[in-house]
Amino acid sequence: MTLLEVKNLNLGFEVEDNFYQALFDVSFSLDSGKMLALVGESGCGKTMSAMSILGLIPKTAKITSGEILFNNENLLNKNTKQMQSIRGRKIALIPQDPMTSLNPLYTVGDQLLEILKIHQGLQGEEAEKKAIEAFETVQIPAAKSRLKNYPHEFSGGMKQRAIISMALACNAEILIADEPTTALDVTIQAQIMNLLEEIKLNNHTSILLITHDLALVSQNADDIAVMYSGRIIEQAGKNEFFSNPSHPYSQALLKSLPSNRQNKLETINGQVPTLSQDISGCRFHPRCNYCMEICTQKIPPLENILPNHKSACFLHQRF
Ligand code: SF4
Repeated sequence: MTLLEVKNLNLGFEVEDNFYQALFDVSFSLDSGKMLALVGESGCGKTMSAMSILGLIPKTAKITSGEILFNNENLLNKNTKQMQSIRGRKIALIPQDPMTSLNPLYTVGDQLLEILKIHQGLQGEEAEKKAIEAFETVQIPAAKSRLKNYPHEFSGGMKQRAIISMALACNAEILIADEPTTALDVTIQAQIMNLLEEIKLNNHTSILLITHDLALVSQNADDIAVMYSGRIIEQAGKNEFFSNPSHPYSQALLKSLPSNRQNKLETINGQVPTLSQDISGCRFHPRCNYCMEICTQKIPPLENILPNHKSACFLHQRF
């Protein structure tokens, strides 16, 4: 069942008298109890897509069209108060850097209890019981005594577990995990990804994972959507995507993974375009080894090439 559906989302930034488009007709959906990985290089629009869902876009950003349907209600029509009751309670964010997400002046337990009070109205023993349960769910040992610790007494991995516990404490239906392992070392990364997988399976929580790291999602994600320069350029189930990547950009990303290394890693020529660069046709065409004349003139639509596999590339079209 589809829980969240982003449809034809267009967003840009107003800078002085100019308008720079950052998201172009972004569409993807997240099913109940599944993990969708939104993958792409820095600046491709994945975090802005996530912030649009949470209603947390910067003041200079403007959504010009599109819909964000959560349980069939358009979040773009909600007012500030309504969004405040959805954020945290129904859709929670696991931010990139656990080091800066916790207030160093309060114990981790106090911060968790505050969330339980605001979002669930829990206080006293009832709140403490729920806080201990939340810590146990994310496998923080000696949960009761750890609630009394300050953030500096937690390791990086433990801080991220505490942040995840806060997202879970309110029984959020969707977790948006924005590069949740970037600030952690490799072994802890794997633990956090396994924890998210367990939460997905045990709690039937849906997870939108934002990442630049295809290797990270190869184990845990159910579906993959690849973004390039503000557009979704390929979307497929994980197994289909990794066995049959279709878009030249996805193929190049996969060839640049260390696991595929033979003699040396392959690289993608050129740079990701900036927002102010006006590129006609396919925005990947200046970097694409298969570029054809039509690619410089027309925008390739995102179309089904198989029942559960979409790609935006003229190579797959007959014209
Ligand atoms: Fe390359 Fe053309 Fe496909 Fe764009 S549409 S990825 S330029 S072949």
